[in-house]
Amino acid sequence: MNFINSIEFAKGLDANDALKGFRNKFYIPLINGKESIYFTGNSLGLQPKTTQDYVLDELEDWASFGVEGHFHARQPWFSYHEVFPSLLSKIVGAWPEEIVVMNQLTVNLHLLMASFYRPSKEKYKIICEAKAFPSDQYAFESQVRFHGLDPDKAIIEVSPREGEHCIRTEDILSTIKQHANETALVIFGAVNYYTGQVFDMPAITSAAHEAGACCGFDLAHATGNIELHLHEWDIDFACWCSYKYLNSGPGGVAGAFIHKRHITDDTLPRLAGWWGYEKATRFNMDKGFKPIPTAEGWQLSNAPVLSMAAHKASLDIFEEAGMDNLAAKGKRLSDYLLFILDEINAVLKEKMIELITPRNEKEKGCQVSMLMLKKGKEVFEALKQNGVLADWREPNVIRIAPVPLYNSFEDIYRFGEIVKNILEH
Ligand SMILES: *Cc1c(COP(=O)(O)O)cnc(C)c1O
Repeated sequence: MNFINSIEFAKGLDANDALKGFRNKFYIPLINGKESIYFTGNSLGLQPKTTQDYVLDELEDWASFGVEGHFHARQPWFSYHEVFPSLLSKIVGAWPEEIVVMNQLTVNLHLLMASFYRPSKEKYKIICEAKAFPSDQYAFESQVRFHGLDPDKAIIEVSPREGEHCIRTEDILSTIKQHANETALVIFGAVNYYTGQVFDMPAITSAAHEAGACCGFDLAHATGNIELHLHEWDIDFACWCSYKYLNSGPGGVAGAFIHKRHITDDTLPRLAGWWGYEKATRFNMDKGFKPIPTAEGWQLSNAPVLSMAAHKASLDIFEEAGMDNLAAKGKRLSDYLLFILDEINAVLKEKMIELITPRNEKEKGCQVSMLMLKKGKEVFEALKQNGVLADWREPNVIRIAPVPLYNSFEDIYRFGEIVKNILEH
């Protein structure tokens, strides 16, 4: 579609947006008494107005029932987490038995690597993206050391080519091929947090499998952003957090996916805890771990119900909106943003912004990364003074995430006017 950089046009897109009513379900933070333009949903998603009630219900049940709430709360805590797989299965494209909600993202990454990174003398390498999110880098490095190996030898990073910002799929696939005999695990962030690049998950997975390696993805920036088909793509495992696009509150409970073909494989090593134990006999407290024959078998601890209540509030909104509708709108918002920023670049005397997010439909979601060629930090600070909450990444990138649940095309138009004004003065 042909976009126009005008307030009427932006308002027209909003008026025709079937998801426009969802914005009103969220609290939009104020800056100087006015609604901010909130573009940091990829860092911390906004609070649904329903979250308080969901959490309050659990606090009330705790007050009323004490320990009996495990079985007598309105949503008994013993089985509280069981509501999530069916809701998340539509968001990540997996069978319910392949999904479990538990722990935090980096914890889940370690638990899954305990099962799926099993280096042997010949096959011990991990292939990942260069400049992965720091927590992932530290997880890979410490896993390698845990097995008594040297990270400098065992971790192969695929980088963008000289002068480019995104990693070419062909380079990922050829690296996997080149190291096929030594590779134990291929693991990528599905959406790179810095550039917003969406990786070709099915192609990477099949190349990893051809090399006889396992393949996993960190979906921190993908879940609730882009369409996913984890089961169909034959991915071995994945994990994600719930506080970014899934709006489930700071440090909210995370999720994990383990492909069906692995969930009952009792040859896989795993780090066990009582909440992963067969439900019918869990309270016999017997010796000898018997895992639940679903992804739940990877659980360690009893469920953090207050955090799960916030998660449920948000996932009920996703259910109503539909993940495919959200993914389509997210791309559209990004496209409009790219269009507006292109226009701004075209009228400036010198180019100030390099847009490093791929233009290709398949390689982007609802994030646009602006590499600032000049005065990046000053522009970023000025944005905040003008009511825009964006995200700064060293050394010089401003990340903008227009989120389909609560951002509008008008937000993008107004952002464009603010950016233009800052750059011209
Ligand atoms: C946000 C993010 C994390 C954060 O990890 P936590 O364990 O939730 O603190 C890790 N990895 C990636 C790729 C992320 O985007």
